[in-house]
Amino acid sequence: RSYLDRIECINPALNAYITIVPEKSLAQAAAADARIAAGQATPLTGIPLAQKDIFCAKGWLTTCGSKMLGNFVSPYDATVIERLNAAGVVTLGKTNMDEFAMGASNETSYYGVTRNPWDTDRSPGGSSGGSAAAVAALLAAAATGTDTGGSIRQPAALCNLSGIKPTYGTVSRYGMIAYASSLDQGGPIAHTAEDCAMLLNAMAGFDERDSTSLDRPAEDYTRDLDKPLAGLKIGLPKEFYGEGCDAEVMARVEAAVAEYQKLGMTTVEVSLPNLKLAVPTYYVIASAEASTNLSRYDGVRYGYRAPKYADLNDMYAKSRSQGFGIEVKRRILIGTYVLSHGYYDAYYLQAQRVRRLIAADFAEAFKHCDVIMGPTYPTPAFRLGEKIGNPVQMYLSDIYTVAVNLAGLPGMSIPCGFSGQTSPLPVGLQLIGDYFSEARLLNIAHRYQ
Ligand code: GLN
Repeated sequence: RSYLDRIECINPALNAYITIVPEKSLAQAAAADARIAAGQATPLTGIPLAQKDIFCAKGWLTTCGSKMLGNFVSPYDATVIERLNAAGVVTLGKTNMDEFAMGASNETSYYGVTRNPWDTDRSPGGSSGGSAAAVAALLAAAATGTDTGGSIRQPAALCNLSGIKPTYGTVSRYGMIAYASSLDQGGPIAHTAEDCAMLLNAMAGFDERDSTSLDRPAEDYTRDLDKPLAGLKIGLPKEFYGEGCDAEVMARVEAAVAEYQKLGMTTVEVSLPNLKLAVPTYYVIASAEASTNLSRYDGVRYGYRAPKYADLNDMYAKSRSQGFGIEVKRRILIGTYVLSHGYYDAYYLQAQRVRRLIAADFAEAFKHCDVIMGPTYPTPAFRLGEKIGNPVQMYLSDIYTVAVNLAGLPGMSIPCGFSGQTSPLPVGLQLIGDYFSEARLLNIAHRYQ
């Protein structure tokens, strides 16, 4: 109830939540109380969470930030929601996001922008910006997010939070509305690495309803939190430390690396020679997959349907024209183009080849180090309106995060200080590990915190 009161008071200034149903939250809270009284609690029982509106939750409006799903009340739970519910969490509401998770600023949402609690003229990052803003403003203890090309790590960085995108296949995508299926991964956004580890324990695990889910033994992600770091090697990719990053952001990242050296870690320069191709490769592949995934929104079975149309084709055309926003349409056009006959080999197939090269670059780097460190985002939180008119500029800012998704690796962002004198803005340090090294990333993050 105290969180709900705070939400009522503060959410109008931030627009972090787009759906709040207090009765539902209070019913879950009462059930959690009963469970605790019965001595059947898990570590997450009664913990109030914000859920990104990309996760289908039974009986909840689930919009994915789009007008297209503005009337969609999900008849089922996503696996992530089902698992968190089984652990006894309390859902406080559904959070705002870039439409269909396409964006990096939370400005493409049909439901209005979300504001960064550290400076309300600025973006919280995206696409899980509503989740990050809610946690940063203490409107939830923690939140769920999804990361296709940086959407957990970037908002965590810009809002002074910790967020982890696990190895592809670790968290089930069942009921998580698809953007780019070969890149999408769910994960937690929280204040600390310890909180992330506890949430990941509940969220991760094999799910036969997701054909790309990995069938591996369950892990306790909290198991290594306190391990000493001495002797571990930090890889510093030279491509991360060149031009293109704000000087104050770079200074905070370098100071964090120096702190890690005091904890006994050593550094080694590594190289990701194909990093310069990561953004174009990502936008070809992500848009291609988006264009096919979004073909299901046709106005027939569920979602938005145009009120007036002449025939079936006109109904499809009008429903999609009216239901999708400008960024989503841009991705559908790019994706349809790169998949079309005559361009498929030149763009889509070529991008798939470069994707292999990027994964191979990481594999080579991890022969020389245990973790890669660098910035999460090239600048601190930027002003709302500053980048939205220039999509290429917005896309280029994804340079430090998208390669991780292309390779399917785990990546995390943790707070590493503030830039700016008059108005302090958070800076994020990115930790990238080899496949299935989540426990180690969380350990490295935890020791710094
Ligand atoms: N900014 C990237 C995009 O717009 C990543 C978004 C995401 O991770 N969902 O595609």
